[in-house]
Amino acid sequence: MIYFDNAATTAPCAAAVKAAESMFENYGNPSSLHRLGLTASQAVSSARKIVARSIAADESEIFFTSGATESNNTAIFGAAKSIGRHKKKIVTSAVEHPSAAKCCDLLADNGFEVVRIPPAEDMARQFISAVDNDTCLCVCMLCNNETGAFLPVSDIFRAVKKKYPRVHTHCDAVQAYLKIPLRADRLFADTISLSGHKVHALKGIGVLYAKKGVHIPPLLYGGGQEKGMRSGTESVPLIAAMGAAVEQLCTDIDDRYRRVGGLSEHLRSRCLAEGITLNSPDGASPYVNSIALAGYRSEVLLHFLESREIFVSSGSACSKGKKSGVLAQFGVPDTLADSTLRISFCADNTITEIDEFIDALKAAKQELLSAAK
Ligand code: PLP
Repeated sequence: MIYFDNAATTAPCAAAVKAAESMFENYGNPSSLHRLGLTASQAVSSARKIVARSIAADESEIFFTSGATESNNTAIFGAAKSIGRHKKKIVTSAVEHPSAAKCCDLLADNGFEVVRIPPAEDMARQFISAVDNDTCLCVCMLCNNETGAFLPVSDIFRAVKKKYPRVHTHCDAVQAYLKIPLRADRLFADTISLSGHKVHALKGIGVLYAKKGVHIPPLLYGGGQEKGMRSGTESVPLIAAMGAAVEQLCTDIDDRYRRVGGLSEHLRSRCLAEGITLNSPDGASPYVNSIALAGYRSEVLLHFLESREIFVSSGSACSKGKKSGVLAQFGVPDTLADSTLRISFCADNTITEIDEFIDALKAAKQELLSAAK
């Protein structure tokens, strides 16, 4: 099997599985006052320390959630609720993941003005100049999940904070986390979203980083877990698994980036030689490669590849093959968007796998053409 869909989800690493399993046996509720509760609570706090260290944050700034979708919802609705009573403008990139973009849509339906900045060359300038006295919230992802493009979050948020310190800055860092070195303070973000299953932990676990002193109302009310930021009994096995996966991945980030960079270069040069278009812009993350085989529908290609045990995405996995407005923002014409595949790597992928993938695409060209004749 060749798995090139790591931006959709990654294989859980052995350490994550082991950590989760150990908490199936130690199944206490972290809020319980007896020994089983204490063991669970220690597991949560150890994972919190690891995650905090991985982004150079303080453990008091780390809140576990059910995933980055919840983290994005909490940050965006929370900031709009607390600051947006008087200020009604939100400035965001036009290429956010639906878990952030749809929150902004909903706020737009409820009286907020939402300004969406395309990922153009002068994006930082456009973004910064759109922020004004009426702005309550800025939302900008760090690495786009469909093309791998890095957005100039630090430049934008630094400038915004300098001029408008009370504007809430939120960054979805899911596709950049543990792929490039990240320091929370260098992003100038009040809140940051991370996801476990993109970093070889398990599904259903994420993190919301909230900078010390930043207070946003929670999405969920109840028992007051996670210092009231996220009520609900902590999913200790998932949290422990995230801690274990992050501990493994938070070293050698640069080495892995170089290795995956080599894979991406190989893929890109083989694509160009075969007349396959590269949608990802220059300088994009090597982990996410958007390519298009003009004249062939992505879904048909995807299933052809699947029949050869090669797994990729068409555009973004989260949209279940729905046409992507995000690709258009990156200048990909509609005709190519329909033919787009997302090839997303992890450090375990190999050059041989890429060659097999290209061979399979060549076979697809032959076979799908002859089927059409
Ligand atoms: N943000 C980005 C950039 C993503 O790629 C994803 C998942 O694809 C999410 C948020 C949502 O993450 P989760 O699956 O943890 O809710």
